[in-house]
Order: sequence, then structure tokens, then C-alpha cells
Amino acid sequence: MKPADFCYHRPREVDEAVQLLHELDDAKVMAGGQSLLPIMNMRLAEPAHVVDITAVAALRACDTDSSCARYGATTTHMMFEDELVPDVTDGLLGRAAAGIGYRAIRTRGTVGGSLAHSDSSAEWPTVLSALDAVVHVVSVRGARRIPVRELLLGFFSTALEPDELIVAVDVPRLGPDTRCGLYKLARKPGEFAESLAVALARPAGTELWLGAARATPTRLIHAESLLTGGGLPELPDLADAVLADTGVGGHPGQLHAVAVHRALRATEGTPDA
Ligand SMILES: Cc1cc2nc3c(=O)[nH]c(=O)nc-3n(C[C@H](O)[C@H](O)[C@H](O)COP(=O)(O)OP(=O)(O)OC[C@H]3O[C@@H](n4cnc5c(N)ncnc54)[C@H](O)[C@@H]3O)c2cc1C
Repeated sequence: MKPADFCYHRPREVDEAVQLLHELDDAKVMAGGQSLLPIMNMRLAEPAHVVDITAVAALRACDTDSSCARYGATTTHMMFEDELVPDVTDGLLGRAAAGIGYRAIRTRGTVGGSLAHSDSSAEWPTVLSALDAVVHVVSVRGARRIPVRELLLGFFSTALEPDELIVAVDVPRLGPDTRCGLYKLARKPGEFAESLAVALARPAGTELWLGAARATPTRLIHAESLLTGGGLPELPDLADAVLADTGVGGHPGQLHAVAVHRALRATEGTPDA
């Protein structure tokens, strides 16, 4: 199917994009179009105006300081995967990006678009929640910062107002004593996750996050409590903890337990398989 008719706008500056979003009735931001265009093709969305932000150079800038990296909203998955931007997480961002869809999707899809789309099976919502990243948002009313954990409200639902634009995401720099584990379970490469687990092991304790279980990424407090004795928990115990944390049991719960177990093993440098 083809999308319904719409007016196409291609601003060059952030201010221009924000003004368009303010003035136009029924406008949608388009970044890589990798989620928006399929939805428009299926006529699940029929915006009157599409504001393509890919010509706004400022939205692709990257900057680092001693505490974090700021990635422009239209930084593509491929730019992380190919290390065209610095990775302040010892490779976690690059590994996450490399697991997203197919290469063609990664060359166009963006970190800001993925967060604004808010699909908990997608890589960036869970990974950037685990890293406690913060998005910068602008509108004609000014700028505000929103932690990713507060941005994501549910499936395809965020704290963004319709005329707000994500301009960048700040990712805190991980210390040298933090070890990261990421595990994506999908039916085959190129598909969204059936389970997506992130483990961040620090001297003070290990933090566990899970995507694709609930409408938003979930911190696994019960599973974390199994880690205090040292050594990896048994899978049945992890499955019970995942059930307590997410309400997901049975076969899907067991898949999540396996993903969490493998993410934990990855923090120890143990092969995933
Ligand atoms: C076949 C297929 C497989 C895929 N597999 C995966 C996968 O395994 N893992 C995964 O994580 N993703 C996957 N994706 C999704 C892909 O990662 C998209 O890149 C991602 O959803 C974001 O798309 P985009 O950047 O192109 O944003 P768009 O499609 O352009 O926009 C998505 C939404 O975000 C809004 N938006 C975009 N940018 C901004 C902004 N800066 N400010 C405010 N709102 C904004 C748009 O209005 C729209 O509502 C897949 C997609 C396809 C088609």
C-alpha cells in the first residue's frame, strides 16, 4: 500500500523544524522513516504534514566530555555500529546497534526516532534506560531534559508533546570498573527481540534491565536480589524472579530468564551460546 497524501517539509535548522511543528496542524516528524513510513503505508497513520529532519546538520552532531557523550537525535544505528561516533560505554552501544534489524534499516534508522517510537522490543529504549540516558527536547516553548526512563510511557507512547522534537541524547560515560552484558533473543537475525536483557555489573552491584516483556523496559529488582551471593543464579530461580518483576511466566518467562542469564554471563566474559 501507499501512504495517503501529505505535504512534505525539509527544514535545515532546528528552529525551523520546531516552528513548523508548532504551526502545522497534524504534522509528524520523520527521521529515518524506518518505523513511520511502514505505518503510513499501512494507513495506520495519515498525517497531513511530514517534517523530514534529516537535513538538519545540528541533529547529527556528536560531542563528548568527561562525564557523557551527547549524540544528535538523527545519529543512525549504523554510525554506532561502525564506530563513526565515539562509544562511551565500552562497546555496548555498538553491539546494541549492530543487532537492530537489517543493515539497510540501520543506515537510515536513528536513535532519536527509536526512542520517540517507544517499542519496548527495540534495542535503544532498553539499553538507554539501563544506561540512564537523558534526551534533550525542544519546542517553541523552550527546551527540557527528560530521562529516558521517564520518556517512555508505554507501547508507542511517550512523554513528548506533539510539537516537541528530540534533539539529542546524553549517555553517561561508563567507568572502567563497569562490565556490560547484552543479550537479544529473536527468532532470526533482523527481527525485533522476543527478549532483550542488559546487565551492568559494577563493584557496588549488578543492575538488570529487560525489554520486550512489558510495555516499557523493566528493571529486574527481584532478579538482582539473586545476585548477592556471588555466582550465577539457576534458570528456574531467574524465571521465578522475572515473573515477580514483569508478571510474565510460562514459556515467554523462561525465554526472558535465558536472556538475562546470558547477559549476566557476558559480563563475566563468558561466551553467550
Ligand atoms: C523490518 C524492520 C525491522 C526492524 N527491526 C528492528 C530491531 O530489531 N530493533 C530495533 O530496535 N528496531 C528495529 N526496527 C525499527 C528501526 O530501528 C527504526 O529505525 C526505529 O524504529 C526508528 O526509526 P526512524 O529513526 O527511522 O524514525 P521514524 O520512522 O522516522 O520515526 C519514528 C517515530 O518517531 C518520531 N520521531 C522520529 N524522530 C523524532 C525526533 N527527533 N523527535 C521527535 N519525534 C521523532 C516520528 O514522528 C515517528 O512517530 C525495524 C524496522 C523495520 C522496518
